[in-house]
Amino acid sequence: MGKAMIIGCGGVASVAIHKCCQNSDAFSEIMIASRTKSKCDALRDKLSGGKTKIQTAQVDADNVAELTELIEKFKPDVVLNLALPYQDLHIMDACLAARVNYVDTANYEPPDTAHFEYKWQWAYRDKYKNAGITALLGSGFDPGVTSVFSAYALKHEFDEINYIDILDCNAGDHGYPFATNFNPEINIREVSAKGSYWEDGKWVYTEPMEIKRVYDFPEIGPKDMYLLHHEEIESLALNIPGIKRIRFFMTFGESYLTHLRCLENVGMTSIEPIDFEGHKIIPLQFLKAVLPDPASLGPRTKGKTNIGCIFKGNKDGKEKTYYLYNVCDHQECYREVGSQAISYTTGVPAMIGTEMVMKGIWKGPGVFNIEEFDPDPFMDELNKWGLPWKESRTPALVE
Ligand code: NDP
Repeated sequence: MGKAMIIGCGGVASVAIHKCCQNSDAFSEIMIASRTKSKCDALRDKLSGGKTKIQTAQVDADNVAELTELIEKFKPDVVLNLALPYQDLHIMDACLAARVNYVDTANYEPPDTAHFEYKWQWAYRDKYKNAGITALLGSGFDPGVTSVFSAYALKHEFDEINYIDILDCNAGDHGYPFATNFNPEINIREVSAKGSYWEDGKWVYTEPMEIKRVYDFPEIGPKDMYLLHHEEIESLALNIPGIKRIRFFMTFGESYLTHLRCLENVGMTSIEPIDFEGHKIIPLQFLKAVLPDPASLGPRTKGKTNIGCIFKGNKDGKEKTYYLYNVCDHQECYREVGSQAISYTTGVPAMIGTEMVMKGIWKGPGVFNIEEFDPDPFMDELNKWGLPWKESRTPALVE
């Protein structure tokens, strides 16, 4: 029985909150605190018939003093940050001040540069250790489940893993010519950045979308996928001994890429402020305002996602390959919690990671990436809470 404060009330938070309420034996009480309180209240009203007690609050998570006061008043066992990556450090500061455990799904990104890495959050390691609290970083799907898959493969299937390919396929169709499945600003910053992968102890950089492969995904079929930089590569490179290469691929359809190229060419994806009718606006933030809200895609999106990792390494002196993945159906997610599968596949592991920290199954103190903890209890919970995993010992490899 525990108490969690959830910050943010967007697409991912909505799923995590539904799941906390389903898991009321663990989450006896939650507070939903976000910038727009009416969204928190609407969700509370929808879910208030269950056993989990729900409170709501308005908060600007960038105001550390205000947030600290709210945390100290509610006294949660853990704070789950499902706002945006820009808020990570402020929320970590507030947790530190209030001496409460912290969980998130995405690493810190400064608002003025489209660049994300762990160094800012890893800088809190000693502070969290000295305060006797735990920060769990990256408890979504990727990072999150893909990182737990890696820890599980290392624990049970390999003596040494040398190659990891993380494959993220979304074969869902929402019927719009262009829309993003999670926060458009974060999504577009991620996919329009240079690509990179880890090889032989260093980063190798590519132009955006320079490396393309076709992969025949189980339960979906062949899809075009492109190499992207992705944050879990940075921590897995440190936490998987013997690793030689880690790559991340994501599928994109032709329509999405054509629209993105056009928006880039006309300057709409820029994060440099411009003057517009006497005030400054950021083109990408304006674009976000005119695109469909990802939370509204739920009823329209049909098809499946398949996200997982292909490992290559050795066991008992023999070379071995192994594929761990999850297949999720957009419409089934919508029927269950009113959201599409991208929010679902992130919100479920966010709830599970929070549960692990809240129950003390995973504890530091200190700041940890998710693959640093024992993967087994998390893998069991994935099967229980709607993201069952599948395995193959004869996967097709990505060349
Ligand atoms: P949304 O934009 O749908 O939701 C963000 C929420 O945060 C909104 O409710 C917003 O409030 C709130 N918020 C923003 N700024 C503040 C602030 N200063 N103070 C308080 N609340 C604030 O995003 P998503 O739900 O799509 O994504 C949430 C997080 O999940 C992001 O960090 C994203 O990067 C991450 N993510 C991780 C994935 C993974 O697999 N690891 C995959 C997908 C997403 P308002 O309602 O007023 O706008």
